[in-house]
Amino acid sequence: MTMQRWTWRSAAGLLAALTLGLAPWAAARAELRVVACEPEWAALTTELAGALAQVYSATTAQQDPHQVQARPSLIAAVRRADLLVCTGAELEAGWLPLLQRQAGNPAIQPGRPGLFEAAAQVELLGVPARLDRADGDVHAAGNPHIQTDPRRIARVAAALARRLAELDPPHAADYERRHADFAQRWQAAITRWERSAAPLKGLPIVVQHQGFPYLEQWLGLRQVAALEPKPGLEPSSAHLQAVLATLQREPARLILRAAYNDGRGSMWLAERTRLPVVALPYTVGGSEAARDLFGLFDDTLARLLKAVQP
Ligand SMILES: [Zn+2]
Repeated sequence: MTMQRWTWRSAAGLLAALTLGLAPWAAARAELRVVACEPEWAALTTELAGALAQVYSATTAQQDPHQVQARPSLIAAVRRADLLVCTGAELEAGWLPLLQRQAGNPAIQPGRPGLFEAAAQVELLGVPARLDRADGDVHAAGNPHIQTDPRRIARVAAALARRLAELDPPHAADYERRHADFAQRWQAAITRWERSAAPLKGLPIVVQHQGFPYLEQWLGLRQVAALEPKPGLEPSSAHLQAVLATLQREPARLILRAAYNDGRGSMWLAERTRLPVVALPYTVGGSEAARDLFGLFDDTLARLLKAVQP
């Protein structure tokens, strides 16, 4: 089953559930019921739990994870979940608290082991020195888009494996073994990605949303300007003119956007600067090739390298 349109990992289980008129969980024989807020954490949970968990992703790669509708099927899934795996750092502040209240499931409330926050496991970038929400900044807790750095995903994986074992003690050894296997394959992949990414070091870029600081830090990309001065808000024409002026002084090589971003801002800039727009999958399911976490970074690197080919 592809991750493009993530629903239930087990189509057979879903079919059985529909036939019986039961909630999908009821038909599942898996031990843990996991709802992931974003596709990357659904994919990571599947790497670590395999058949030991039924994993449901609240969002797809085509959705803006800052803004999600708490549709009835999502509320139903959270109501029965043993574990919520979310980014945290306020990425889901606009929809998760409401979802937690509506679901009325004590296991996944703040402070309980049934709520796992990936961003709490790693060092965050972009933590504002001065907190002023009047700026319209939705990244007041630091930048939450950590999934663009595979080294941070490795740290999240170790913590998530421990949490799975804590919630499902009879299978603790399985999670440990699966994590060790994943960690080894992941580290080998990071080494391979870093070797291939050498031509990207120092590359000046423009970003659509402040969504790539971790990718920039990992690969040594240099962000010259951002099209969305305030995350999630349409850039004003005054801001777009300022970005153009910046690029005249300090030229960039490409414009970066996520699969879910509205492409109009980057198209506007591309027409005026003749810079290529590179749409990155950004998460699992964000492109045909980004079918799992390994594919996500294979494709991210391939797209960046293709754009800078001489
Ligand atoms: Zn954001």
